[in-house]
Amino acid sequence: MAAGSAIQIPSRLPLLLTHEGVLLPGSTMRTSVDSPRNMQLVRSRLLKGTSLRSTIIGVIPNTSDPTSDCDDLPSLHRIGTAALAVQVVGSNWPKPHYTLLVTGLCRFQILQLLKEKPYPVAEVEQLDRLEQFTNQHKSEEQLGELSEQFYKYAVQLVEMLDMSVPAVAKLRRLLDNLPREALPDILTSIIRTSNQEKLQILDAVRLEERFKMTIPLLVRQIEGLKLLQKTRKPKQDDDKRVVTIRPNRRINHIPSTTEDEEEEADNDDVVMLEKKIRTSSMSEQALKVCLKEIKRLKKMPQSMPEYALTRNYLELMVELPWNKSTKDRLEIRAARILLDNDHYAMEKLKKRVLEYLAVRQLKNNLKGPILCFVGPPGVGKTSVGRSIAKTLGREFHRIALGGVCDQSDIRGHRRTYVGSMPGRIINGLKTVGVNNPVFLLDEVDKLGKSLQGDPAAALLEVLDPEQNHGFTDHYLNVAFDLSQVLFIATANTTATIPPALLDRMEIIQVPGYTQEEKIEIAHRHLIPKQLEQHGLTPQQIQIPQVTTLDIITRYTREAGVRSLDRKLGAICRAVAVKVAEGQHKETKPDRAEVDEEDCKEHVTEDAKTESISDTADLALPPEMPILIDFHALKDILGPPMYEMEVSERLSQPGVAIGLAWTPLGGEIMFVEASRMDGEGQLTLTGQLGDVMKESAHLAISWLRSNAKRYQLTNASGSFDLLDNTDIHLHFPAGAVTKDGPSAGVTIVTCLASLFSGRLVCSDVAMTGEITLRGLVLPVGGIKDKVLAAHRAGLKRIIIPRRNEKDLEEIAVNVRQDLTFVMASCLDEVLNAAFDGGFAVKPRVERLNSKL
Ligand code: ADP
Repeated sequence: MAAGSAIQIPSRLPLLLTHEGVLLPGSTMRTSVDSPRNMQLVRSRLLKGTSLRSTIIGVIPNTSDPTSDCDDLPSLHRIGTAALAVQVVGSNWPKPHYTLLVTGLCRFQILQLLKEKPYPVAEVEQLDRLEQFTNQHKSEEQLGELSEQFYKYAVQLVEMLDMSVPAVAKLRRLLDNLPREALPDILTSIIRTSNQEKLQILDAVRLEERFKMTIPLLVRQIEGLKLLQKTRKPKQDDDKRVVTIRPNRRINHIPSTTEDEEEEADNDDVVMLEKKIRTSSMSEQALKVCLKEIKRLKKMPQSMPEYALTRNYLELMVELPWNKSTKDRLEIRAARILLDNDHYAMEKLKKRVLEYLAVRQLKNNLKGPILCFVGPPGVGKTSVGRSIAKTLGREFHRIALGGVCDQSDIRGHRRTYVGSMPGRIINGLKTVGVNNPVFLLDEVDKLGKSLQGDPAAALLEVLDPEQNHGFTDHYLNVAFDLSQVLFIATANTTATIPPALLDRMEIIQVPGYTQEEKIEIAHRHLIPKQLEQHGLTPQQIQIPQVTTLDIITRYTREAGVRSLDRKLGAICRAVAVKVAEGQHKETKPDRAEVDEEDCKEHVTEDAKTESISDTADLALPPEMPILIDFHALKDILGPPMYEMEVSERLSQPGVAIGLAWTPLGGEIMFVEASRMDGEGQLTLTGQLGDVMKESAHLAISWLRSNAKRYQLTNASGSFDLLDNTDIHLHFPAGAVTKDGPSAGVTIVTCLASLFSGRLVCSDVAMTGEITLRGLVLPVGGIKDKVLAAHRAGLKRIIIPRRNEKDLEEIAVNVRQDLTFVMASCLDEVLNAAFDGGFAVKPRVERLNSKL
């Protein structure tokens, strides 16, 4: 096909600009296309074209296509090769590009460039007219001689190769069958020639000149082969192999003869990579590994899957910040101001963080405990982590560990796997580009475990200052120094953090906020942030503190401020719509439109909610802020989600309010009991853990043993409380598993109410573990529990006496709102929980005497 006899190319050709190889007529070249004009040519001409003519393009050598569409076209090489695009392969790796397989047809010269965009098109003149050559050379004797000479050399060269290889035999046959005029181009592509030499051959339009130029190249190749044969003489077998190796590879691809160029181009990349490796500041060990890998890479054919893998690996190695770090600018006073500015309240946490930073400033190393912030969601753990990075002037990167159950997530996959990649730590370092960032390990309490190993164990190595300077990711397989990284962890609870990991960390509890703190946080931080995010100004919207309090008490029930933030966001969105509408109306005062809208509002909104739309209309002059009052709140957020239900639920005997601690903060919990005829069975519902069930049994046993003393009777008046009686205890929110001993006092109070028929005070909540002897033991999470009770509007809280010290942590204003009853035994609990106490009453004694 190469030397097709009468090729007629179109007079206008789209031009493919190449700079990596030179395509000669009769040979085939693979070329990568990724620059904008070339990509356009492939897309709109080759991929869309349907006729054979549309697959003919002009390949211009020695001219690179500018990387940007807007750049001017460089001056084009005058002579090019008209080519047939035989194959187009698209790929997205490492960036979108096409690989074209083109076969050269004949030379052409550019007469005039017709257009440059989206891809260049030129009017061209065909230069090779192969059928003429035959006539020509017949007429010119010299050319006949030249071609004869050339043919001889070509035959000599081919015969030096191993004829048993089919491709060599085929080439030998081709030499005889192809027209002589086509041979210079074809052989130049086959033998070892530089791009420059090929370019000269391409530019040699006259056939005579072309023969003259190629003969020395053939001779050079023949001499080279002879020399090789001589040096390899002793080893006969080897000799043959060596001689054939290179030419073979080329001959195999006849007429795809331009592998040299391909390799050259690719080698360029590899050489660049090698240069980068040598100049990078990686550790000695890493450098050794990389150099070994690059050596392998050079020998590897590009089509091997391992080629891409190795290349990826080397590129990652070059990119990693082996020695690149940011300079710490730590100034404790500035850090304090920044932390205070970014976060309201959380004094204990800020104090500890400042201490930590101060020690770092004095000691200048990081060998200390890893800080772990433990607290309910939305209390600002992540955001404090971010502030720490800011005060230090370090990069910040968050690694979410929730649900990670494969240790390869931390440590990476070995490179033997397909799709292997480095772990999150190394990936994070690559992302931030420095070796001393602040890494926030988010949700360490939610690490999973699976057959693929324990990620917590992998984290141990990362967090241990003694060993993390030599952290070895499986993918990298060389040590990377993590000792400069500042790790901070966050969790909702310490209960599920693996003990070994917990041991490496210093736990700082971040409790929930009080209502007052939430209001302050909302007005200092959340509202300004939301306004900015929604493009509003304080002149357009005003949220008074009472409204914030309303949102906090009636639309959210949480320890942190996340849902509050979301609600504020919803308000801002609604107002943004109104403001935008207002502006719209202002610019287009179309009365009909306004009227129609007004009507709609009247139909769909009730009388109260009109206030927001009215206010919104008033916002037309922008200096009038939209006031978010109770009605507006209802309009935007819907009816309140939480109402004070306490007194309503305590209207029957057998209900008491307990305080529970959950990873999401403290909560109030209604414990309900009822009795019915039966055989003395105790039924417990509400997904209780074993400890809680035991508390229930303890409570019943204590009440039974003290029934006489408190005059507690069953339905038939017997002191044996379980005689012919079944008891059912229920802990609402049945879908949530509950466990722990702290509900003991609540169960006792609830049952005491049931058996005495008296109501528990509706404003009292309690917590405490009980013993069989009626003592009240201390429990944890007092601060969260007290805040929950305060949120729910309760007034009195019964806590174990030994928890008295925990009250100091609670803000003064919350303490002032509440009355605390310290109890060391159940007598005290019951006395406080019932109006007028629970002591033995004279009335009861009278009853006794009757019996
Ligand atoms: P966590 O990590 O504890 O779940 P975040 O750090 O994501 O919580 O905090 C949620 C949002 O609440 C953030 O926008 C944060 O800025 C804000 N926030 C929480 N606590 C405070 C605080 N004390 N002062 C200012 N903003 C706060």
